[in-house]
Amino acid sequence: MKIHEIGEFGFIDRISGMFRHLLLPDFLGIGDDCAIIPYNEKEDYVITTDLLIEDIHFLKHRITPGQLGYKSLAVNLSDIAAMGAEPVGSFLSIGIPAETEVEYLDALMEGYHKLSQKYKVPLLGGDTTKSKKYLTINVGIVGKCRRGKALLRSMAQSGDIVCVTGFLGDSAGGLEVLLNNLPETKDNLQLILSHHLPEPHVKEGLWLAKQSGVHAMMDVSDGISSDLMHILKASGKSAVVELDKIPVSDTLRKVTVAKGWDLDKLVTCGGEDYVLLCTVEAGSLASIKAGFKTVFSRDLIQIGRIIEGESRINWMKNSQQVVLNKHGFDHFSV
Ligand SMILES: [Mg+2]
Repeated sequence: MKIHEIGEFGFIDRISGMFRHLLLPDFLGIGDDCAIIPYNEKEDYVITTDLLIEDIHFLKHRITPGQLGYKSLAVNLSDIAAMGAEPVGSFLSIGIPAETEVEYLDALMEGYHKLSQKYKVPLLGGDTTKSKKYLTINVGIVGKCRRGKALLRSMAQSGDIVCVTGFLGDSAGGLEVLLNNLPETKDNLQLILSHHLPEPHVKEGLWLAKQSGVHAMMDVSDGISSDLMHILKASGKSAVVELDKIPVSDTLRKVTVAKGWDLDKLVTCGGEDYVLLCTVEAGSLASIKAGFKTVFSRDLIQIGRIIEGESRINWMKNSQQVVLNKHGFDHFSV
C-alpha cells in the first residue's frame, strides 16, 4: 500500500493509538493542535512541531527568505494560540542544500527573529544538517497555560455557536495569484502577503481561553471544511455553517469577481489563514462578542452552530442546504 492511498490523516490514524498506553495522567497526546504535559499544580506545558519542505509547503523562488523564516514560526505560534496558551520558547532545525547562500540563511533568521521578538519567544535550540536538494525547516514550540484550561478540539457542545477570529480565504487567494503568475497589482500583492506573512492570533487565543463560555478551539490551517471536521469528530457532534456569514475581505471579494474564482470554495477549502475557529456557548455569545470587539477593535464572527448528530458539516447558502463536492458547492439534490 502506498502512502497516497491513505493520506496524511490515514497515516496519523495508524500510529496514534500505539503510544496511548504510555501517556501519564493528564497528558494529552496525538490529535489536537498541541500536546499537553502537566508542569505543576498551576500550569501545563503545550508543545507542537511543524515541518515545511521546499516545493511542498513553499516555493523558494516566490517567497523571500525573511518571509519564510517569519512564516515557519508563525504557523507554530498559531497552534499555541489554538490551545489558548502563551508561547514560551522555540526550537528550529534546518536541512540546508550545500549551495545555499549564507546571506539567504541570515535573512531567513532575521524574519524568524522579528516574530520571536514580537511575541517575546526565544529560540532555545535545534539542529542543522546538509540536505541533498530541498530546504527543509522544522520548528518546535513550547507554550504554557493554566492547568487543565487548554481549549481542546473535543470540547464543542450542542447549541454552541461556531465563530472565527478573522477573514478566511485571503491566503488561498494569494496562493492562486502566485500559482497563476498574476500581475503584482495592489490587491494581488495584499493577498500574497496574507499567504506569506500570516499573523498568528496569539493574543486572541489567550483572551478567548479566559472566557468561560468558549468551549472548543483550533486554528484554521487546512481550511474550515477540513478543520471544523476535526472539532466535530473529536467532540462527536455535527454542525450547520452558513456560507453567507463567513467573513471575506473586500480585497478577496474584488479579485475573486475579476478572476471568476469560486469564492465559497476558496473560503472553505483554502487553508493557511491561521485565524482561530472556536465554539461559544450561545448564552455567553453576546457578552463575549462585545468583549472581543472592545479588546481587538474587530468582530468575533459567528458562522454556524453545533448540533447533535453524525460528524458532518451541513452547509447553508441563502437559507438552502448545499453540498460541497470537488467542483465546489451544489444545491442539495433531494
Ligand atoms: Mg492547528
